[in-house]
Amino acid sequence: MRHRLFVMSAASGAGKTTLKDLVIQEFPDICYSISATTRAPRKGEVNGIHYFFKTKEEFEEMISKNELVEWNQVHGNYYGTPKSFVENQLAQGKRILFDLDVFGKVNFDKVYPDATGILILPPSVEELKKRLLQRATDSEAVIQLRLENAIKEMDFAKAHGKYEYTIINDDLQKAAQELRTILKDPRQS
Ligand code: 5GP
Repeated sequence: MRHRLFVMSAASGAGKTTLKDLVIQEFPDICYSISATTRAPRKGEVNGIHYFFKTKEEFEEMISKNELVEWNQVHGNYYGTPKSFVENQLAQGKRILFDLDVFGKVNFDKVYPDATGILILPPSVEELKKRLLQRATDSEAVIQLRLENAIKEMDFAKAHGKYEYTIINDDLQKAAQELRTILKDPRQS
């Protein structure tokens, strides 16, 4: 699976979604992985496009039937990568870009050890806090918790994660260019 699977991970507030949305449309042969989740759809999110939205019972059945490449609980909800989705896309000759939390990535590597890892980092903890505060509808306590989780995730990724590339997202256009270069690399085709 070398050169066909890309996994992005980032702490919330690192700007990963904006970055991914900007770049992926330029690569028609790369599809974005659709995960299963028990979290409620946000405004504008569509089942089967953004996520496969599941009940807790449905998700736990997927776990017990071994239908997931990996799964994890993130911010109190289940998230996982359906095997069938990955296998179908690969059979169609597509490359796939995944968005996994840093712990899920470790489990993903047990199944697909050759996937290319891309870690997206904010320029600093101060900047991360600023971004979380800016976009937040959350309370100060929730923001503090997210910030602490983000720091733990970044430390874990640096110590245990297998990420071939790190992108510091201080400037969106510069970060987008770095991501393009990774996805365009002829060795990745
Ligand atoms: P959100 O709820 O904001 O869409 O995603 C929350 C977190 O869940 C993100 O950090 C994202 O990386 C992670 N995530 C999304 N899909 C999956 C998945 O299939 N597996 C794992 N392990 N994490 C996921």
